[in-house]
Amino acid sequence: MELNFLRQTDSAVAQLIMGELERQRNCIELIASENFISPSVMEAMGSVLSNKYAEGLPGKRYYGGCHVVDDVEALAIERACELFGCSYANVQAHSGVSANIAAYLACVKPGDTVLGMSLAHGGHLSHGSPVNFSGMLYNMVSYGLDPATETIDMDEVERIARECRPGMIIVGASSYPRTLDFERFGAIAREVDAYLLADIAHISGLIAAGVHPSAFPYADICTSTTHKTLRGPRGGFLLMDDEELAGKINKAIFPGTQGGPLMHVIAAKAVAFAEALTPQFKAYGAQVVRNAAAMGEGMAEGGLRLVSGGTDNHLCLVDLTPAGITGKDAEELLEGLGITANKNAIPFDKLSPAITSGIRVGSPAMTTRGFDEEDSKLVGTLIARAIFERDDQVARQKVANAVQDLIAAHPLYQEL
Ligand SMILES: *Cc1c(COP(=O)(O)O)cnc(C)c1O
Repeated sequence: MELNFLRQTDSAVAQLIMGELERQRNCIELIASENFISPSVMEAMGSVLSNKYAEGLPGKRYYGGCHVVDDVEALAIERACELFGCSYANVQAHSGVSANIAAYLACVKPGDTVLGMSLAHGGHLSHGSPVNFSGMLYNMVSYGLDPATETIDMDEVERIARECRPGMIIVGASSYPRTLDFERFGAIAREVDAYLLADIAHISGLIAAGVHPSAFPYADICTSTTHKTLRGPRGGFLLMDDEELAGKINKAIFPGTQGGPLMHVIAAKAVAFAEALTPQFKAYGAQVVRNAAAMGEGMAEGGLRLVSGGTDNHLCLVDLTPAGITGKDAEELLEGLGITANKNAIPFDKLSPAITSGIRVGSPAMTTRGFDEEDSKLVGTLIARAIFERDDQVARQKVANAVQDLIAAHPLYQEL
């Protein structure tokens, strides 16, 4: 990476950026919410569009000089709608949580009941955690997993919805390895007269690639990040099919909860949406799913227990209880061997969220690097070996060497 100007004006920050590039190149990235953006997305983000104030929407701004950024945002909106097969999009949300805040503001009032997936069972903080705005401002009720199957118990969701009569139901998760039944959630929401919010932050790239069912026409609103499986810049967006609701969402973003949009990031979102519309991205999404399954197979054959018995999407959740190690210790152990993953609560976890009994591993980033099923299965085998043979220094060294071989075979950002 050149960083021609930064190296001269601020070598401290330039060195840190180079250090992070090296870190990303030299480990196998398995954090399920991370990915590697293209150099084109990066260029759009590092552009003069950052200079422009553009409060409002294309054609209806509060500042002059917006004709160029109007076209940028209109293009991003058009591409988002084409990609997800819907009529309206707001691409200004600064992040996934910002998108969710706008959805709450548009659909429910403080004190209203909202039904979401329990954080402890794979939901997101913004779906009702007491330390989050959602849990502080709304009467949050949660649904969870069936202890036997470790999948969402749809009959239970229906029962709870009938009982608590929520104004909004949220479907979406951060650590759930199975397909979401948007159709059934839609039927339940209609029955109790609630809005259905599909938070597709993790799986939007899979939906775009056609390897996970779409939330439309069942959801009233989809919220998402752009930086997870969708492989765009760090940011959020919302999708709607109803004109009136789309108007409410636009107002909930600005002036409701945000000021000026990040036009450089919106340009990068437009680039990422266009990339996701290509046949190559469809192939990428399919490979992400195959790689997660192969990694899961490698881990299971190595003796690890996968929550729900496997995966349908881009991630596996591993129950480390039988292996006698905590999530926190496993995360550290793997990092020392060149594998980056995160500790994660498993359903009905007995340990605290800071320790946990599980790890979450995802395939989006390694797939972008070019890993195939064989590589991914080997990654799973290496994880199991690292965990079960953690006291054997020779075995640990062999795992670390195998990780380095995989990294060397799939170099990252050679063009930078
Ligand atoms: C990641 C995630 C978010 C939050 O996105 P940020 O960009 O980190 O704010 C929201 N919902 C779900 C389900 C997520 O997984």
